[in-house]
Formats: sequence, C-alpha cells, structure tokens
Amino acid sequence: MDHVPFKHKRTTLERAEKFISPHYFTDINLRSRLYRERASLTSIKHCAVQDRISLNKALQGQFKTTSIGQAFGPVWSTHWFELEVNIPVSWQGQEVHLLWDSGSEALVWVQGQPVQVGTLCSFHVVHIEMACNHLFGVGNLALVKPEDDQRTFTLKQAEIALFDRDVYDLILDVETLHDIAKELPETNQRSFQALFTVNEMINQIEVQDRSTYKRAQEIAQEFFLQRNGDSQHTLFAMGHAHIDTAWLWPYDETKRKCARSWSCTLRLMEKYPEFTFVCSQAQQFAWVKQLYPSIWSDICKFVRMGQFVPVGGTWVEMDGNIPSGEACIRQFLYGQKFFQEEFGIKCREFWLPDTFGYSAQFPQIMRHCGVSRFLTQKLSWSLVNKFPHHTFYWEGIDGSSVLTHFPPGDSYEMKGKVHELLKTIHNFRDKGRSNCSAFLFGYGDGGHGPREDMLGRLERLKDCDGLPKVKLASSDAFFSTVESEQPSRLCRWRGELYLELHNGTYTTWAKVKKYNRLCEILLQETELLCTMAWVHRSLLKSDSLDYCYPRTKLDALWKLLLLNQFHDVLPGSSINMVRACVPYYCSREQQGTSTERHSPDLEPCLVNTQPFARREVVKLAHLDSARPSPKRRKLSGADADLEEDCNETHGEFLKEIMIYLRHLNNHKPRLVLSLQEDTGPIKGMVCERYNFYLSSVLVFCAGSLHARSMCVIESYFLCTSWSNEAIDSEHPANQFLLYDDVPLYWDAWDVMDYHLETSLQISDKSYLQQKIILEAGSPFVRFDTEVTWHENRKFLKVEFPTTVHTMECAYDIQSGFLRRPNHFNTSWDSARFEVCGHKWADLSEHGFGVAVLNNSKYGYSAVDGILRLSLLRSPKTPDFKADMGVHTFSYALMPHKGSLQEAGVIQAAHSFNCPLRVVDLPSSPSDPIASQDGGSDIGRSLFELDTAKVLVQAVKMAEDSSQTIIVRLNELFGGSVVATLTSRLRFQKVQVCDGLEDFNSEDRDIDFHHKTTERGSEITVKMSAFQIISLRCCI
Ligand SMILES: [Zn+2]
Repeated sequence: MDHVPFKHKRTTLERAEKFISPHYFTDINLRSRLYRERASLTSIKHCAVQDRISLNKALQGQFKTTSIGQAFGPVWSTHWFELEVNIPVSWQGQEVHLLWDSGSEALVWVQGQPVQVGTLCSFHVVHIEMACNHLFGVGNLALVKPEDDQRTFTLKQAEIALFDRDVYDLILDVETLHDIAKELPETNQRSFQALFTVNEMINQIEVQDRSTYKRAQEIAQEFFLQRNGDSQHTLFAMGHAHIDTAWLWPYDETKRKCARSWSCTLRLMEKYPEFTFVCSQAQQFAWVKQLYPSIWSDICKFVRMGQFVPVGGTWVEMDGNIPSGEACIRQFLYGQKFFQEEFGIKCREFWLPDTFGYSAQFPQIMRHCGVSRFLTQKLSWSLVNKFPHHTFYWEGIDGSSVLTHFPPGDSYEMKGKVHELLKTIHNFRDKGRSNCSAFLFGYGDGGHGPREDMLGRLERLKDCDGLPKVKLASSDAFFSTVESEQPSRLCRWRGELYLELHNGTYTTWAKVKKYNRLCEILLQETELLCTMAWVHRSLLKSDSLDYCYPRTKLDALWKLLLLNQFHDVLPGSSINMVRACVPYYCSREQQGTSTERHSPDLEPCLVNTQPFARREVVKLAHLDSARPSPKRRKLSGADADLEEDCNETHGEFLKEIMIYLRHLNNHKPRLVLSLQEDTGPIKGMVCERYNFYLSSVLVFCAGSLHARSMCVIESYFLCTSWSNEAIDSEHPANQFLLYDDVPLYWDAWDVMDYHLETSLQISDKSYLQQKIILEAGSPFVRFDTEVTWHENRKFLKVEFPTTVHTMECAYDIQSGFLRRPNHFNTSWDSARFEVCGHKWADLSEHGFGVAVLNNSKYGYSAVDGILRLSLLRSPKTPDFKADMGVHTFSYALMPHKGSLQEAGVIQAAHSFNCPLRVVDLPSSPSDPIASQDGGSDIGRSLFELDTAKVLVQAVKMAEDSSQTIIVRLNELFGGSVVATLTSRLRFQKVQVCDGLEDFNSEDRDIDFHHKTTERGSEITVKMSAFQIISLRCCI
C-alpha cells in the first residue's frame, strides 16, 4: 500500500504555480512546452512614416531590411513592417503563431486586411502597422505622468512558432484549480478538493510525453463538471473593451485602437459562438465604418447574430456633470439614430462605466430618450463613503427612475480569474433582493478587449460547484433577468450619484469648459434662428429668400461638440495633445456666428432667443454713424424696450458703445454698490446717469492678487424694502482665494478636502484684472475678469460670504436644479466639499437670498452661507501645460428678494449666458409670419409662453421631416404648472414625442391640448416638476 504524505497547502499551491510559471523553471515546466518549435522569419523590412496612413499608401514607401534589436521612434510616429513568412513543411496543417514584440501597439495586416488574430497559411507576406505608443500612450511608467518625448520602442521578438493547444488547455486547468484552492476560504471543502485535484494532475503529467496529457485533462474535467445548486448567484459575463475616445492619446489614435481591439474580438466570435461583446459609443463605430470596411462588414454580421452588441445609445460616453440638458439629449439622439440606421437597433440601456459622477437629471433624460436601464461602476472609486447598492432604482429630480446596476467587481476589465468572481459575489450589496450581477471582461481604457484565455477560464467556471455560475450574455439578458426577479424588492436612491473623487474636473481645462458652454448655447440659438429662417421661406415662398435648413452642417457641429464632451476631454483629464480641441471650438464659434449672418442686406436688429421678456444694456462693438440704429424686432419673445439714448465711449476703459435702455425696472430690490478705495489698487470711474432711476457703474481694477488679504471690492447690497445686508459685513465679498492644490495621485482630476485649510500668495508671474459693472436695470453686479495664470498646483476661487441662513444651497444642473447641503454634518455631506453646478448657485432663506451667476464655470462649494465659485486650477499631469495663459470669464452677484424662483434667478442666469444679440438681418418691408393673419407688428415671436416657470429648451426642424418643428419645453421651477405655448403658425397637428423625436408609450399620459385659432396655434400642456416635454409641430 502507498504511503501518501500529509498534503501541505502552501507547498502544493506553489508547486502548481511553478508548474505553469512564465518566470521560474521555464526550461522544464509545462509552459516551456507551449510552443513546440520556433522558426525565424525569412525577412523583416521596415518603412517609417510620420502620419497615420493607410496600408496602400504605406506600400508606396520604401521598405528596407531591419532586424530584431532595432529601436523605433519618435513617439506617435508609425512604422510599417513587411514580414516574409515561410512555414516549414512539417508544420503544415497545425496551429502556427506569429510572435511579435515591439513594446508598442501594433496591427497585423494579411492580404490587405486587418486581422490581428488568424491562422497563418503555408506562405505569406504579413504587414505590421506599429504605432510608437503603448496601450496607455507615451507616459513614463505611471499612468498620470506626462508624455515622454524621448521614448523609443525596440523590436524584441519577431518569429513564428508551432503552438500546442493541449498544453495551453492544461495550463488554464492548472491555473484555475490553483486559484480556486487559493481563493476559497479554508472553511470551504471545495478549496481542498481543488488542491488535491491540481496536485494529482501534476503527478500525472510528464511534460515531455504528450500521451500523459489526456488523463490529466480528464482529472480536471471531473472537478469542473461538479455542478452548483439552483440557488447559486449568476454572473452575466460580457466581453468589453473600454476604449477612451481620447485620453493619453489623441482621437486619431483611438480610431486605430478600435481597429486593433475589434478585429481581434471578431475572430474570437468566429471561434466561440456563445461569446458576446458589448460595445458603446456610436462615434467609434462611425470611425471604423469609414476607415476599415472589412472590420465594419464583420461587425454588421456579428451584430445581426447577436454577438457584437451595441450598448449605451449615446454618441460617446460623455462627462456626467458638465454637458447641458440639451447636449445630453443630443448624445442619445445621434447615438440611437446611428445604431438604428446601421443595425436597426435601439439600445435599451445607458452605458457610462467610467464617468466622474452622474447628474440627478440623468434618469429623466434617459427616460425621455426611451432608455430605462443604466450601468456604471465608477462610484466604487468614492474615497469616503461606500455606496449602499449594486442593483437599485435610481430616481432623478423629476421623479423618473431607471433600473441601475453597478457590476460589483468594481471593474469593467475583468480577466475571468477566480478571485474576480469571488469579489463580485462578496461585494454584491443587494443579496436577497437580486441573485445576479454583471461581469465585464476584457482589457480596457486603452482598449484591447477580451482575450482567448479569459474565455477559457469562464468556460471552466460556468457551473462549477462553490463558485458563482457564469453565463456569457448581453446586457439586455442581464437587465431582463433582474426585471423578471422581484424588482419591487429593490431599493431606491434619489438624487445625484456623486463621485467622492475627481471633483477637480469641474474646473481643470477652463477654456474647454468655457467654449463648451458657449457652443452649446450657440448651437441652440443657431437652430432656433435657422428654424425661423425656414418658416419665413416656407410661408413666403420667395426665391430671393430661398433658404434651406442647414441640417447636415448642424449635425456635424453637434457631433463635434458631443465628441469633445467625452469623459476625459471636457473634464480636462487628457494629455496636452488632446487640448488641440480648443481651436476647434473657436472655429465652431465663428461658424455659429456666421450662420446668423447670411444676407448682405443688413439692418441691425435685436434678437432675444429666450422665451421671456428682457431689459438689457446692449453693447455695439462697431458703431457706424452712417448705419441705422438697431430696431426693436421681437423675434422670439423679446420685449426689449430699446431706445437709443446714449452713444458714448467711456474713455480708455470701455471701447464699446453702450446703448442704455430707457425704461427702467423699478422693482425692488435696488442695488447700491459702494466702493472702498483703500482696499486695494482700484482705479475707478463711476457714471451716474439719468438721475435716480439710471445708475451705471463701471469700475476698472488692476493689480496683483494677494491671497486672503486681497479684496478687490467690498460691496454692500442694500434693499429699501427690508433691512438685510446680503453680504456679511465682517467679510468682504468677491474675495479671491488661492489654495494649495496637491492631490493624492490623480493630478488633473482631484482636489482634496485639505485644500480648504490652506491659503497661499500668488506668484509674481500671475495677475488678475477685473471690471465690476452694474448695468442699468440689471438685478446683478457683474464681474468681467481677466486672469494671467502661471501657477503650479494652485487653485483659485472667488468667495461670497452671505448673511443667508439656510440648510441648503441650490445649484443649476442640466435642465433643473438640485439642492445640496450648506453644512458638513455627515461624512456624506462633507465629502461633497466641491460640487458641480452650471449657470448659477443660490443660497436663500425665507424672503431673500443671494445667487452667484457665471458664464463658463462649473465648480462650486457652499458651507455655512459662504458661496465659492471655482475659477482656475493648475495641475501638471497628464497635461503639463494645463490652464497656463490668459483666461477671461464673467460671473455676477445677484442678491434678491423672495425665493430664487420669484426673483427670476434662473431667467437672469439664462440672460447672463445668452445676452440679447445684435444681428444683421435683411430689412424686409413685410413680415411673412405677421402677414399670415394680416397682422402688422414686426418680428413677433415664433413661440411664446404664458408662464415664467417653463423654458423653451430647443426649437429645431425634426430629424425625419422637413415639415415638422420640434419644440422642447422644460419646467424650471420644480413645481407643476399648466403652460400655454402660442405660435403664430397654424400647425396641422401637434404630437408629444420623446427626445429621439419618436412616439414613446411613456408619454401617453401627458395632458396636452392643441387648437388652431384665428391668430395661429395654442398648445396647452400640464407639466410636473422639472418635466421635459418634446412636441412635434407639423405645419
Ligand atoms: Zn474611460
């Protein structure tokens, strides 16, 4: 009888580890047999190019012989190789691999097609497109290091080898058994069963003798085939390649990353018919369609087969905080439209695994775009608090909710390893409520995607007793299973999904954020004006005014804006090279502006693109005395009582001509600005005009900034009707603060809580100048600011210490507002020391409040009644020049009576961001719209609303019809309202639609009436708090 030694766990585990190790005993272990034979290539030829060019173009270049050991560069260049491969006769019919290691990314081309994975035939010329960057750009070792320009890439390996698939399978068996033995707790007998099994396998195998392999495989199979019971948790495993559309590489490299990743994925699909791969971002599909026809046709084939699964429904995976409500809807509109046109598919889930926090408006925007499911995992990165759910209903500010899932493994790039399966099941916080979760596998961020070994592991573990069951499936299968469980058991989370990290991204790359805001507004205004131009044309039918709605141009502009809202571009977390998108914005700005001026017959007119009446000071940049004065033309609800009163320059300070509005807003509160000359180097000029009812103040301040001691102006805001001072008399307002801004690791991303305890002096390289302007009739004081900024890891904010007593601060978000604490009571409150808001933030108590408006900023903090606006940061990685240079921006202080709604804070912020435009329009004697009903008043609004509680968020021509106008309404105040929208156009039919301009069953309950009257159309709609409603108005 044999004497069996006592089984020592550690020695047995390490025995198994060394048996398949790529580092130890590689001359005799099992892994040493993975390639049975190797052979050199017949020849290696090389051709260097600077640009990313096609194979055909590359073939026109000169290829010269090169060899292993050669280094190639510089970074971001491309090198094409032509390999002559001669497979030995004895290898015929067997699996032969090309082994290539250039330490960089590369794509294999065979017979003119990108293949990446494939079988080599008897004789081949193979081309390799080598990119001088690795998966994570060209940084030096650490992820967030800036680019290393000196880096080169050395060709270390180029040969062919005969692959032994039996050895490969045995390696996976040993590895998986070893991992089960190691990862399962000692209280679980399966751990020991795995240990004994792997030990027995190794005893069985004589590595040089392939005849011993079969018995070892059988031993492993017996273990893996021992099944789970019915109650076991199921993981829905989806292949995935998170490809950042730009990050540590530019957009152009991403196009090639898609080709490299997906060509490999498609070959795996041919081999593994059960394998499904989920893929988001329509923009990446569009690039591949344009540049790689053979990959595209394979994608189409596997989409039809249900293996290559488009998900997410958006144009790119955008930032989750900063884009406007309308831009978010357009992400879905263009994304879903692409998937529908190309594949006949409408995604049912929103897919945003890697974005830095999620707006409380998202559930509503998703629902409005026909999406009811959401997947992310980023909240696992929160520093302070652990989010309490993985599967739950997420409810937005309007009460809409979506089924939401965070893959509990806290990653979108699993490798199919045992410890990942166990982590997923252990972490899952909704046990009992649900019995399944998602498992995303494949290399990510830089792309690459699933590999064959991952599928091999998951195949072994698909139903192995003691471990969760694994099912290769799509996200639709996963969510449908959750919905079929007992969804009423699931918990609910209301409000935003705040990421307690990366909150510096509301401020980094200030110019990108500034242009983003500007272009979002410009595009919406341009669409409105183009729609109006089309209405004029269609009703007048005059050849001289013939006008075609510029749909193609607008689509292209929107898609570029949406692309730059990608979650590493708009947040400012990409390399310097990606910031090249800034000039793009400038050109869009010009294009947007030029679209307004399409006629040579010019007459300056005022255009109000907002649906409410306004009184504003209008600046004319170039006043020509020979030209007529601007006329009052109400083009969109404008009620600007403009009269030309004063054309006068103000010395050296203001070059523009200002035209004041005569009829003043006599409403309280009245603002009085008092200057304290001794607080700093202030040069001032005060213009008191038109006695008591018109007071316009222009102040020009210049000087260096002295941290906390610096106070540009001390302002007291008094109101005759109540005794409050809005600003704390002990602490000056508009005080600039400079903080030490050194995060723990993620430089461009993070600002840590401890920055609030610091106070620094600005260096002599930076300075700030500011105009403080109180315009006639304006409810706010405005601060036009120019900063020359050359700091290192410093954070500039401006502070307003108010006298408001309140528990909460309200912040403008996409299409509504959100209240967050004005205190640090709990860890959840204090973790939100820096938050995202859009055009305004407001602190109000009963009867009065103070708002801060801005035209390009997104970072705020509010605690104990002190409201701070974040202005500029200065991180050095991954963009070593981030935010250096000159910045101009404006913000404003608006003390008010009553609530923020009663005081018109929201309208004021919209006006601040979309000032009345002076547009040169043709001087037409008759107004076509007015002539429709014989009226005579010029320039009546296209749409008018009878309530200030509702905003017209968008007016555009429908995607699918040249005779239909889309009007999108948004309830602003957070309450229900019956709104009446009137138009001078007589619509034949008005229907409720969703954000995709389709009919959505969820919109059936919307209570609305449409009637045509003598004067046009009247649409009455009942809206609930923050509701967004889209209407199709057919002419
Ligand atoms: Zn990402």
